[in-house]
Amino acid sequence: MGAPLTALRDRLARARAAARTAGVDALLVTPSPDLRYLLGVGGESHERLTCLVLPADGDPSLVVPRLERPGLDGSRVAELGLDVVDWTDTDDPYLLVADLLRRWGSMPARAAVGDAMPAAHVLRLRDALPGTEQVLASPVLRELRMRKDAAEVEALATAGEAIDRVHARMGEWLRPGRTEAEVGIDISAAIVAEGHTEAAFVIVGSGPHGASPHHDVSDRVLTAGDVVVVDIGGPTPEGYHSDCTRTYSLGEPAGGDVAGTYAVLREAQDAAVAAVRPGATAEQVDAAARGPITEAGFGECFIHRTGHGIGLEVHEEPYVVGGNDLVLEPGMAFSVEPGIYLPGRWGARIEDIVVVTADGVRRLNHRPRDLMVLPA
Ligand code: ZN
Ligand code: ZN
Ligand code: ZN
Repeated sequence: MGAPLTALRDRLARARAAARTAGVDALLVTPSPDLRYLLGVGGESHERLTCLVLPADGDPSLVVPRLERPGLDGSRVAELGLDVVDWTDTDDPYLLVADLLRRWGSMPARAAVGDAMPAAHVLRLRDALPGTEQVLASPVLRELRMRKDAAEVEALATAGEAIDRVHARMGEWLRPGRTEAEVGIDISAAIVAEGHTEAAFVIVGSGPHGASPHHDVSDRVLTAGDVVVVDIGGPTPEGYHSDCTRTYSLGEPAGGDVAGTYAVLREAQDAAVAAVRPGATAEQVDAAARGPITEAGFGECFIHRTGHGIGLEVHEEPYVVGGNDLVLEPGMAFSVEPGIYLPGRWGARIEDIVVVTADGVRRLNHRPRDLMVLPA
């Protein structure tokens, strides 16, 4: 199951309106999270063109290779009553797109193409639409995708609960004598078992590896006293992603004032979440996370933005970063994930997904945020 039909109809209407506002005459979207957002079907991106043709002032069509048309039976595309136009291997699908646009009057002066559209399609569309300027679709579509509707928020909440259940089981796997990679295999299996279609990423950063925010896994053997950063997530069958980090220690942590440093991080994450509300800006949330860390002298050790939007993609708008004065609105969902990284020694990060509500914030991850001391 995906988005309700009414939600999809609404999204298509809003996409057309947003295109008009942006001075875009047509949106061209190939298989991608954008397509899944608009039509409830993702499809595969390959050399044969599948493309949603969405004129700002006209009805949408979907161009598909004939051999893939049966795959749309029973999908939302059928229910939406979309005009499906198929083509065979001897047709030119790019000219077909041009024909469909011509139906609605003059050729578009400006067409927006999905950001992830393969260059092979972009350039052939350019040839088929010689008088049409191509621009990126993200400025149009991000306005929609950034503001989650109630069904999307619930899908993200379901993903959050699923990843929380994986973190709850971490003590089964994180033990001295095992390698990060061995632990990673167990975590990946649990991510799927707890309700995801795949483990999109598994970071097990033990000891000095914890100081590398995008470490994955390695053959390093876990030892007693290690601090371990575990950052995991994946998509649910609805396509919405989880992403949650907790930091563990194997027995009492070795390596200096871990408890004191971790307490600073804990305070920073709480302060940033508390700063989330409608009317606040993304950069204010980033500053709220950075404040306590900088005050404690670790400013240089927090080497990334505070967070990223999340939905059908793990990383999407809005980005919670200095310089982003975007005003937060209800329905915006993003991570709040400050970290402190001490090169060569250890690192720590706390990450929750949050949603802006009508009057504040809702966290979608609920595992304890303290340093979790596991038996060594
Ligand atoms: Zn990251
Ligand atoms: Zn994240
Ligand atoms: Zn993460």
